Amino acid sequence: MEPIQNFLSAHQISFKDGCMLSELTTFKIGGRSELVLYPETAEQCSALIRFAREQNQRLIFLGNGSNILGSDHGCQEWILKTERLAGLSIDENDILKVGAGVRLVKASSFTAKNGFSGLEFAYGIPGTVGGAVFMNAGAYGGSMDQVVLKTHYLDEEGAPHVIEGPAHQFAYRNSFFMQHPSYLITAVEMRLEKGNMQEILKRIEELQRRRKEKQPLEYPSAGSVFKRPAGNYAGKLIEEAGLRGYRIGDAQVSEKHCGFIINRGRATSRDVRLLIAHVQQQVKKKSGIELECEVRFIGAE
Ligand SMILES: Cc1cc2nc3c(=O)[nH]c(=O)nc-3n(C[C@H](O)[C@H](O)[C@H](O)COP(=O)(O)OP(=O)(O)OC[C@H]3O[C@@H](n4cnc5c(N)ncnc54)[C@H](O)[C@@H]3O)c2cc1C
Repeated sequence: MEPIQNFLSAHQISFKDGCMLSELTTFKIGGRSELVLYPETAEQCSALIRFAREQNQRLIFLGNGSNILGSDHGCQEWILKTERLAGLSIDENDILKVGAGVRLVKASSFTAKNGFSGLEFAYGIPGTVGGAVFMNAGAYGGSMDQVVLKTHYLDEEGAPHVIEGPAHQFAYRNSFFMQHPSYLITAVEMRLEKGNMQEILKRIEELQRRRKEKQPLEYPSAGSVFKRPAGNYAGKLIEEAGLRGYRIGDAQVSEKHCGFIINRGRATSRDVRLLIAHVQQQVKKKSGIELECEVRFIGAE
């Protein structure tokens, strides 16, 4: 038996051998990953981080894979998938405590049904709480920085820490964790406002209606591919560069929302990367503005 198998069985950590990145990401693109790990507790995560370090093995942390383009060549790194880092409760001080692997849709409906406002914006973002803190995800005027109080994480040696408030260094689609990609978020605490349940649910419904109307949710994608440039919109610049519907292989600039690249069926990461480069080049030529990628690439180049 290999050392990793001994280790996983000793720590009772679930895993899958050889899973396709296309099955782990909302873009539905990417080759084979060697090993996917599904720890359920922070202690298991800590042991895994230490073990991977001893083995000189790099770990990639994956939430719901909704902001990820996986390589066609797959990845040699082990993937630590956070989906079993669960837990969702509101304490006596009205603080929401939530595991990093909990999906935003679940956290948002849980808080809404308990009469707490603040996570309405997050209902339609198809990520996990950990991925959303990492990205400082946001929509419709709301963002994670407005609600996050404390984040529990493990450093590259598996040691636990908690950061609070300004230490998160939140900025537009940026955070302390983006500067430290080897830190694993395990749980998050948020402060929400007491509100009227019916009104909160109505607001969620309204935002969902707007999302469905504007976004190509019928196709696999990773959402908006580019960050919003200061004082402008990526989608608008892409449209003005004449790229609505522009296609390379099965990767296409969405006709419905030019900020999205969609997978029309069999898109490869090569198709998407070529399309991203083309869009960046054409937008720069037309407007002088450099579009920065929001989507993150994983796996072999
Ligand atoms: C249809 C669609 C609509 C979208 N709409 C929006 C939107 O309105 N607003 C918005 O901001 N985004 C949007 N997104 C993008 C995406 O959903 C968000 O960026 C989301 O926060 C990513 O979360 P995730 O769990 O999927 O993270 P992943 O995509 O799995 O990972 C993203 C990054 O976070 C890191 N990460 C994930 N979990 C952890 C953890 N526990 N600890 C440390 N690092 C971690 C990963 O290593 C990776 O670098 C959309 C995507 C799609 C497909």
